[in-house]
Parts: sequence; structure tokens; C-alpha cells
Amino acid sequence: MSGEIIAIVDGKEYQVLERKGAPLELGKRFICGAELTRETVDKDGKHVSTETKYVSGELILNGIWTVYAGCGTEFLVTKASPSIIECCGKPAVLQKPKPLPSSD
Ligand SMILES: [Zn+2]
Repeated sequence: MSGEIIAIVDGKEYQVLERKGAPLELGKRFICGAELTRETVDKDGKHVSTETKYVSGELILNGIWTVYAGCGTEFLVTKASPSIIECCGKPAVLQKPKPLPSSD
């Protein structure tokens, strides 16, 4: 895929998702950082799982350039609002709940 941004964390390659805000829903957690995802496929190329990771601090992208991913501050929404949280000049990222092992 062209335009894909890759970061290597703990020796694994992750795709870096664009940082964008989400409406503040009660009980949701946000973090000032980068959202990284990694798809695991089996030997036939079939999707096995998706791993999501949130990182802060400096991140090396595509092995070339360094960006500041965020300060790592976490936010818990205690009052719903249509606005977004900004931190370090960028929207804070909505944290997905940890996926439960599926049984299908
Ligand atoms: Zn921040």
C-alpha cells in the first residue's frame, strides 16, 4: 500500500493511523499519543487478529524521520460533549477497549 506509515516498536512493524478527534462520550478514554495497528495473518494470508497499541514520546517513522507522538496524557470522559480534546496541538486519540478473545 502506498502512503502507509510504518513504525517499528519492540521489533514489530505497526501501521500508524492518522490522529483524529472523536466526540466525547461518557466513560470513554482518550490518550495524547499515536495509535498503531498491526494485522496478524496466517500462512494463507487469512486475517487472524489485529493488535492496537498506543505510544507517546518520539516515534521513528518508516525508519527515516522522527515525530513527537504525544505526551501520553490519558483522559477519561466524565461529561459527554460534541467537542474534542486537544493536547500537544493535536486531537487526543480515542482508545479502543481491549478486545476480548473471540470464540468464533
Ligand atoms: Zn499531550
